[in-house]
Amino acid sequence: MSKQLILALSKGRILDETLPLLADAGIEPAENLSKSRKLLFDTNLDDVKLVIIRATDVPTYVQMGAADLGVAGKDVLLEHGAEGLYEPLDLEIAKCKLMTAGIDGAKPARARRRVATKFVNVARRYYAEQGIQAEVIKLYGAMELAPLMNLADEIVDIVDTGNTLRANGMSPRELIAPISTRLVVNKAAMTMKHQRLKPLLERLALAVEQRR
Ligand code: ADP
Ligand code: MG
Repeated sequence: MSKQLILALSKGRILDETLPLLADAGIEPAENLSKSRKLLFDTNLDDVKLVIIRATDVPTYVQMGAADLGVAGKDVLLEHGAEGLYEPLDLEIAKCKLMTAGIDGAKPARARRRVATKFVNVARRYYAEQGIQAEVIKLYGAMELAPLMNLADEIVDIVDTGNTLRANGMSPRELIAPISTRLVVNKAAMTMKHQRLKPLLERLALAVEQRR
C-alpha cells in the first residue's frame, strides 16, 4: 500500500457542497475541476489525490481499496451495503430524506404493492420490516413518472422540498431514513495509513463543527 491517500468524491450535487468543506479542512484541488475532463486530480497536499466518480460507484472504490476514503450519500451507502467500510464522519451536507411517496388520494394499494425505485435493496428491506408485501421494480430515473403511468402504486426516492412530487400530483408518505453525506474509509487503510488519516479526519470533523 502506497503512502498516498486517494479520496473519492461523488460527482453531481454532492460535489458542489463537498469542495468548500474540503477547502475549510485544508484540501484543495490543484486545478479547476469544472474546467477539466480529467477524473484524477492532484491537490495542494503532496500525498492526497482526488478522483471524481459516479456517486453510486464511491462505495465500491473505497471498499475495494482503490480509494482510501470517499464521500458518499447515506442513501447510496444504505443501498450498497457497508462491508469493508468505516463511516467515521457525518459531513452534514446534501441533507434530504429517503421516503415513500404516492399519488394524492390514491385508492389503497393492491395486496402486493408495486414499488418503483432505484433503491431496490433499501425498499425490499423497508417493506419487509413493515410486513408489507411489495413487488420492487428497478428504475434508473424519473421515479415520479411510475405511479402516473400506472407502472407502480408507490415510489421510494429522495425527497428534499417535495416540489417535484407536488408538481406531479404526488406527496410523500412514510420516512424511511434521514439522509446526509458521509465520509467513508477503507477498513484496511484505516489501520495501515492511520498516521496520515488521523489528522485529515480531525480537520474534516472540525470543518463540519465550525459550520453548525
Ligand atoms: P444521481 O441522481 O445521478 O444519483 P445526484 O447528484 O442527484 O446524483 O445525487 C447524489 C446524492 O446527492 C444522492 O445520493 C443524495 O445523497 C444527495 N441528494 C440527491 N438529491 C438531493 C436533494 N434534493 N437534496 C439534497 N441532497 C440530495
Ligand atoms: Mg438526482
